[in-house]
Amino acid sequence: MAHWAARAAALDAADPLAGHRDEFLLQAAPAVSAYLDGNSLGRPLRATAAAVDAFVHHEWGGRLIQGWSGDAHVPDGGWMDWPLDLGDRIGRAALGAGPGQSVVADSTTVLFYKLVRAAVGHGLARGRDEVVADTGNFPTDRFVLEGVAAEHGVTLRWIETDPAAGITLEQVRAAVGPRTALATFSHVAYRSGHLADAPGITGAVHDAGALVLWDLSHSVGSVPLELDAWGVDLAVGCTYKYLNGGPGAPAFAYLAARHHGLLRQPVQGWMGHADPFAMGSGYEPAPGVRQLVSGTPPILAMVPVRAGVEQLERAGIDAVRAKSVLLTGFALDLADALLVPHGVHVLSPRDGARRGGHLTVGAGTSGADFADLTRRLWAGGVVPDFRTPDGIRLGLAPLSTSFVEVLEGIVALERLVRSA
Ligand SMILES: *Cc1c(COP(=O)(O)O)cnc(C)c1O
Repeated sequence: MAHWAARAAALDAADPLAGHRDEFLLQAAPAVSAYLDGNSLGRPLRATAAAVDAFVHHEWGGRLIQGWSGDAHVPDGGWMDWPLDLGDRIGRAALGAGPGQSVVADSTTVLFYKLVRAAVGHGLARGRDEVVADTGNFPTDRFVLEGVAAEHGVTLRWIETDPAAGITLEQVRAAVGPRTALATFSHVAYRSGHLADAPGITGAVHDAGALVLWDLSHSVGSVPLELDAWGVDLAVGCTYKYLNGGPGAPAFAYLAARHHGLLRQPVQGWMGHADPFAMGSGYEPAPGVRQLVSGTPPILAMVPVRAGVEQLERAGIDAVRAKSVLLTGFALDLADALLVPHGVHVLSPRDGARRGGHLTVGAGTSGADFADLTRRLWAGGVVPDFRTPDGIRLGLAPLSTSFVEVLEGIVALERLVRSA
């Protein structure tokens, strides 16, 4: 075991991002010694606590209703601008998206619904009545699709994916066709961590004349994205995972500029109107991506997201990805050495280039009950998460996770598997 400890220490010592770990409020949870769930809920930054306090005192408390419109005293501009400004910052730091195409609002589920409906409406007007999706996608995406299909009489064409891998280019090529309105997938599969070939799949969907919608919840802030260069039409994602925006932080949506004014989302609210304060009699959509906003945006909840994005801007997404590949590679080596001999299976791609920011291991033939084991790990201060039927997911957020922490978590897991 000593050589693993030496290797973890050496990796930490050589880590150019190690200093960013100290920016987090690590002492807020003294009982947690290894946090391996930063892909479900990122840790808070110290800057977030200060920024929320300052916002309450000076912005909300000081400016009150005047905060909505920009004025000379406020360098950040008015809150009305925040959904698009923060969208642009996420676009630049993480999405490979030029300005004016991304917006922050609602939850991922709600934004996903809006974009699916917009794409389905566009498709139906062109005689396209099918949506292609995969059975391994996150439940909320599948449930929203079922609802839209029932509402609008479109057919869902499901691709069966390997739970230990994910959607492939060949599967998409075989499923799309002249009736496809929309194809939608997760870029990084929430179970296995499989990283889909987003540029290839986007091209295949376009070859069939359809639109593509990527769910980026497990890639934003972890894997570099090039939405503009790949020609992506639509995308959504969470800000409370690798962007550390806090529980229930608002989501982002991307709508490529070439679709502005052509695709219409269904929740027509006053904040997506061309002139919200005209309070006029008929709905007229705002030009551009602002049409995706419906009601009053969650400004207070954007304060932590701004702090998270600011940290990512300083660290740089390429450096984050480089550390992420090392973290999951180290976890894979540890799993092979310490867990696989007991019958545990690795349920993630072995190739770092095809893997996102987490690694999943399954109970396999070990005889261990991984749900029970997860509860016991949590009680001991080691926090991964459990995903049915038998997977323990090790989410390794590069800005807040150390290599020593990964070692500690997997050693704790080995101890429990061995005694099972
Ligand atoms: C986490 C996650 C979501 C969560 O959606 P919410 O509306 O924020 O609950 C959606 N899709 C994927 C792929 C996710 O990983």
